[in-house]
Amino acid sequence: MLGQMMTQHLLISSLIDHAEKYHGETEIWSVNTTGGVEETNWAQVAGNARRLGSVLSALGLEPQARVATLAWNNRRHLETYFGVSGAGLVLHTINPRLFPEQLVYIMNHAEDRVLLLDATFVPLVAPLLPQLETLEHVVLLGPRDGAAAEQIPGLKFYDEWIATGDPEFAWPSFDENTASSMCYTSGTTGHPKGVLYSHRSTMLHSFGSNTRDCIGFSAQDVVLPVVPMFHVNAWGTPYACAMSGSRMVLPGPDLSGEAVVGLIDRHGVTIALGVPTIWQGLLAYARGSNTTLASLERTVIGGSACPPSMIAEFRDTYNVETVHAWGMSEMSPLGTTNVPLAKHAKLPIDEQHRLRENQGRPPYGVEMKIVDDDGDALPNDGETQGDLMVRGHWVLDTYFRKQDENLLQDGWFATGDVATIDPDGYMTIRDRSKDIIKSGGEWISSVELENIAVGHPKLADAAVVGVPHPKWDERPLLVAVSDEGQDPTQDELLAYFDDKIAKWQIPDAVVFVEALPRNATGKVLKRTLRDQFGDALTG
Ligand code: AMP
Repeated sequence: MLGQMMTQHLLISSLIDHAEKYHGETEIWSVNTTGGVEETNWAQVAGNARRLGSVLSALGLEPQARVATLAWNNRRHLETYFGVSGAGLVLHTINPRLFPEQLVYIMNHAEDRVLLLDATFVPLVAPLLPQLETLEHVVLLGPRDGAAAEQIPGLKFYDEWIATGDPEFAWPSFDENTASSMCYTSGTTGHPKGVLYSHRSTMLHSFGSNTRDCIGFSAQDVVLPVVPMFHVNAWGTPYACAMSGSRMVLPGPDLSGEAVVGLIDRHGVTIALGVPTIWQGLLAYARGSNTTLASLERTVIGGSACPPSMIAEFRDTYNVETVHAWGMSEMSPLGTTNVPLAKHAKLPIDEQHRLRENQGRPPYGVEMKIVDDDGDALPNDGETQGDLMVRGHWVLDTYFRKQDENLLQDGWFATGDVATIDPDGYMTIRDRSKDIIKSGGEWISSVELENIAVGHPKLADAAVVGVPHPKWDERPLLVAVSDEGQDPTQDELLAYFDDKIAKWQIPDAVVFVEALPRNATGKVLKRTLRDQFGDALTG
């Protein structure tokens, strides 16, 4: 033996221990489900997480038993992130926007034994209880509530329950590859699939996300995760914030532009994270108010393509830097972030701005390549597009209870996205592979067309889908949602594409809708649009 370094298992409990010891007084503001803002701090969250760990352990569940949550972003939900996983159990965060049948399916598939839920979701869950085959305990995330108790027999109350727990509870030690949390992907076809994260993958993801060129939270930041804690662990924000000792603002149920602007201005938020639709609402509200978003330094935007017009508005009107990020549930989720290289500073400013629009480059810990239909690697020239493959320390190996499925291809996970990669490793998502438009043998990126369309001042939202065409097989159709009080014509919308894209890629027609259909995680259901408007160009 030449001598060696210590080995410690990478466990989530060590994050909350660190936050408690070095950032105990650091504030966390939480909007309660029942209204009002509560101020707490990392020491109190840590104490409650231990109490929760101890009362959960007393239930006698087997190691890695699933403990589900149906909750908004609030401090009790934050406590479950550490209390459940820290105790060696698996935190199963459930998306409340799922259809009831899907909710029953995933809770039975996950074999959830305990459910912790916000008051909002009592009416959703109560009628489903007879169908939830493995569920033994239901806990309301709050104080005693007589009305809720009437709807759910045997309901426990979180505040009373954890008050009986041990604030000195010693976290168990176990292998870092033990499962820590899970979430289901809301696929647009078939049953949702479970992605199981481990303590190790979560810890490495937190280190990766906390590097300066990824997200890089600091103890000086006030972090607002608008991205829900029920969707891919709010992009890992709670873990990474505990690691860096950041202040946090947990926004609760109201994610309207007005509410989010209020939180930013009141609590001095420096960095906020969320999907483009959230920021659409925020910017629309901000335009009509007198806010300058003075404290806000950065927004991290991902989950779907961030339109360049949004990046520009944050930059030019509010002096806010946008970090465009790409990822997926199967990647914990961080895959890439768009931050510049040193050499970019020498470029003309317009060119620097243009380079910030794509989905960015991977942090250490994620590798990417694009391949053709035979699985052969394609050049990273910024133009050739292919199927995007990934591998890394926080990338899925097998779905939950699907170990016999041969998912990987030579050790790489197929993302289902079509992308280009430039010589510096910057990646541009062109489409989901099933959404790309094939016109006369040429590919058209619906994402690129949507990015242009949403920049039109009279549109609130837009999607582009490929629909059958007698001559070209498929042609792009713009599905547009007009802004309030606006009545744009098809011709003016189509003219807006002139000089912004090759002529043959401009959509053939426009249909107007009241709102776009979206799935539980806010992604546009393009299949529904294709079904609905399939004969727009042939009928
Ligand atoms: P989910 O697992 O629900 O988070 O969905 C992951 C998928 O969302 C990815 O495979 C992409 O298709 C899409 N996505 C995520 N971030 C972006 C982005 N910045 N631009 C375009 N698509 C994105």
